[in-house]
Amino acid sequence: MVPLVILGLIALAIIALSRLSVAKRSGGTSLRRTAASHINANGSPKRGYASMDAAREAAEKRTAMSKRPMSAYKCNSCKHYHIGHA
Ligand SMILES: [Zn+2]
Repeated sequence: MVPLVILGLIALAIIALSRLSVAKRSGGTSLRRTAASHINANGSPKRGYASMDAAREAAEKRTAMSKRPMSAYKCNSCKHYHIGHA
């Protein structure tokens, strides 16, 4: 009976470890945000600008208002341009 118990414990350990690694991976990708994102800090889609010039202009205005440097970038999700903190 002892080998069966050991096998069961090993199986449980493997299940626990795989669950842990999956939780770590999904948490790391979904919660981490970079500056070049389609999503705002509050979770809603950012405003999209039709051209890089329009986005740069908006970024300059925001920088002047908030004193925090904003930069314009092309979005990979919606093919528009967004602004974000550098
Ligand atoms: Zn976007």
